[in-house]
Amino acid sequence: APREASVVVVGAGLSGLMAARKLAAAGVSVVVLEARDRVGGRTLSHTTAQGNRVDLGAQWIGPTQDRMTKLVAELGLSTFKQWSDGKKVLSLGGTLTTYKTSIPSLSLIGAVDLGITIQRIETLVKEVPIDDPLAAAKALEWDGTTVEAWKRKNVKTRGAKAMFDTAVRAVFAAEPSELSLLFFLHYLRQGGGLMRLTEVENGAQETRLAEGFQEVSKRLSRGLGEERVVLGAPVRRIAQDAEGATVISDAGTWRCKRVIVAVPPALAGRIDYEPGLPASRDQLTQRSPMGSVIKCVATYASPFWRQAGYSGEALSDVGSVKLAFDDSPEDGSHGALVGFFMGKDARAMSGKNPEERKKAAVDSFTRFFGPSAAAPIDYVDQDWPAERWSRGCYSMVLGPGVLTAHAAALRAPVGRVHWAGTETARVWTGYMEGALEAGERASDEVLAVLG
Ligand code: FAD
Repeated sequence: APREASVVVVGAGLSGLMAARKLAAAGVSVVVLEARDRVGGRTLSHTTAQGNRVDLGAQWIGPTQDRMTKLVAELGLSTFKQWSDGKKVLSLGGTLTTYKTSIPSLSLIGAVDLGITIQRIETLVKEVPIDDPLAAAKALEWDGTTVEAWKRKNVKTRGAKAMFDTAVRAVFAAEPSELSLLFFLHYLRQGGGLMRLTEVENGAQETRLAEGFQEVSKRLSRGLGEERVVLGAPVRRIAQDAEGATVISDAGTWRCKRVIVAVPPALAGRIDYEPGLPASRDQLTQRSPMGSVIKCVATYASPFWRQAGYSGEALSDVGSVKLAFDDSPEDGSHGALVGFFMGKDARAMSGKNPEERKKAAVDSFTRFFGPSAAAPIDYVDQDWPAERWSRGCYSMVLGPGVLTAHAAALRAPVGRVHWAGTETARVWTGYMEGALEAGERASDEVLAVLG
């Protein structure tokens, strides 16, 4: 016989766990079904042989991410500032320079061009209403073009184009050609603009967690009670009838009144629904691919770059790693660098032998910070595009035409099924903050109907 709960939540990432926590706090019986044998989804923390807790998934929170800030404090976790003292490396066309400001120092003309580009983007971002991107005066025009096409028309110099590409890849883990301009501007709007999303200080890369961000989900799960979170339970089918819903997973079947699906649309689309989803929602799941990113962490006996005056941050237009940061433990007792393979570079590296990826990452680090980077004492990476239960990261990336056609289907419940996950967030979509907001919103919907 099927087990029973008032609400079944699909997915034990931050969004599903937050939804379950709110429901449990309201006295609603809830069970969370998780496909993997662990909680946390796109957060994954790993302890290196040297004892450094590194995040192979989400790694930072920043200003205006109030739910995450409050939650980590409430759970008693310890934050610390991302290391950013010193010069940053800019590698452009193979030539290295350094800079200390928030905007890379290109040639004089390049710097002016990049400054104007950033200003233009920030202006366009403000023209997209946060709650309703389709209400932007130019919504149709912007959703009819890509970020790549906009760049070709508006950005003039090679340096500014290259830096713009790298910034887009850093934020979306996708190429500018993959992104609708409207989707891009709305995503930036939800987080507070291009600079807010790309900066360390006062930006989305400001704060790390000593315990690693997966610990947030572990503690939420523990708080719910282990019996409420079922691991190794991929949900295969959700059937609705007049009385309720039946949720079929590899770990058994549950009967419930409401379901919250807290997974990205690309994964929600792999579940079988009875009756079938309305066309608009079903087609959204066909048109919302995930970005591509592989994160690589190399460990060294010391953060040697700091002694040489470098912050550990690097931006590049060539090589496999086009973005790097200091990833050392808070006490600096040894050193670590984190590099990102993003967009087409991640696709090229996905599925390769880890030794090949290690070589590519270490080559980039050595180019940025000198020969001391050539021999790390430890290396670890995470191939997110090859993860069956993520299918890529950080989040979904929408091409032209999708938002204008399907935005209404993103959050609209389908009968007894409600949608959560950071992709459905109204603020900070794509981020942990958005995952929490979406989980809260979906649980509010369910509480409203359960009375
Ligand atoms: P998920 O974490 O994806 O949770 C969904 C869960 O559902 C998963 O556990 C999955 O296994 C499970 N699942 C899927 N299908 C099924 C099924 N059929 N049945 C049962 N379970 C299923 N965000 C930040 O805020 N800051 C950062 O610095 C940051 N950096 C990132 C770096 C990387 C490399 C990655 C990968 C992500 C990063 N993010 C960052 C994004 C952040 O991790 C996500 O926005 C957030 O964790 C999403 O949470 P979620 O609960 O919405 O989805």
